[in-house]
Amino acid sequence: MMQDTLLKVEGLKTYFYLDDKKISKAVDGINFSINPGETVALVGESGSGKSITSLSIMQLINKPGKIKEGSVTFNGEDLVKLSDKQMAKVRGNDIAMIFQEPMTALNPVFTIGNQIMETLMKHKKLSKIQAQKRAIELLKMVGFPRAEETVKEYPHQLSGGMRQRAMIAIAMSCDPKLLIADEPTTALDVTIQAQILDLMKEMKEKFNTAVLLITHDLGVVAEYADRVMVMYGGQIVEDTTVERLFTNPKHPYTIGLLESLPSIEKEVRRLGAIKGTVPPSHSFPTGCRFSDRCPKVMDKCREIHPELIPTETGHDVRCHLYE
Ligand code: ADP
Ligand code: MG
Repeated sequence: MMQDTLLKVEGLKTYFYLDDKKISKAVDGINFSINPGETVALVGESGSGKSITSLSIMQLINKPGKIKEGSVTFNGEDLVKLSDKQMAKVRGNDIAMIFQEPMTALNPVFTIGNQIMETLMKHKKLSKIQAQKRAIELLKMVGFPRAEETVKEYPHQLSGGMRQRAMIAIAMSCDPKLLIADEPTTALDVTIQAQILDLMKEMKEKFNTAVLLITHDLGVVAEYADRVMVMYGGQIVEDTTVERLFTNPKHPYTIGLLESLPSIEKEVRRLGAIKGTVPPSHSFPTGCRFSDRCPKVMDKCREIHPELIPTETGHDVRCHLYE
């Protein structure tokens, strides 16, 4: 393992074994790594396997799902092999996660202050008084001007954007080395979205946290990530720097995603630039998983499943056009 690598995912397969004997291959052999302090985006349409990737890293896959193969090496340790108890220590301490809908992650019956203090007392072993002081500091840091009062409030008393700020405070409370943010702003108004993403960027810089930023929005990628992985049908189909992805996209799927971005001049989103939908993960087409929707499809694409290959240094593509 390279000394620099914080997280290394190798050959990860997460399958769901359904009642009718079908197997849903939600994540089907992915490899990537994240360096300390780096922001890596994982993009793709709904159903491509982004959330299952993040839940697999966190070891939060439940029946009928299972990590079938592969490893998730974090700080030199394979998380797949840890016991539930060991993993509980890693979660919320070394690795924190924020979700699309903070209401599902926040406990409605405890105050915001209690929820931040709980993590601080459990993972950082602070006393109650120290934890409360730190909770107020953290809330101020994420933009609660009257944090002394916010600690006494309940999640339902906050707006969606403020709840997400509170989630970020909880996530950062233990000074995690990796923050996984799964569509953190999708449920918010557009104006609030940018504020939350800017806040994440600010916190990430302050704490030097690496971020795995999951989004279906390439606009977000352009603004906030260093590197980007495009996911389709449970696999990575393109992996490169953000700059290269926008200046020289290679995979026809990536090109389609870029074409569906709203442009400033037109101000209209060209919806459905890519025809069709993501195939269900229990019945991928033979050959390339994008072949049914690809404008550049060749005979070979329907027969042979392409490998992810480097087209140039640091630009990998899973497409027969580049072999
Ligand atoms: P994304 O986050 O990219 O929208 P997900 O990672 O949530 O996609 O899901 C990827 C695929 O895994 C989907 O095709 C979905 O049907 C399948 N999947 C997710 N959760 C389950 C589950 N509990 N049981 C069966 N299939 C699932
Ligand atoms: Mg998802």
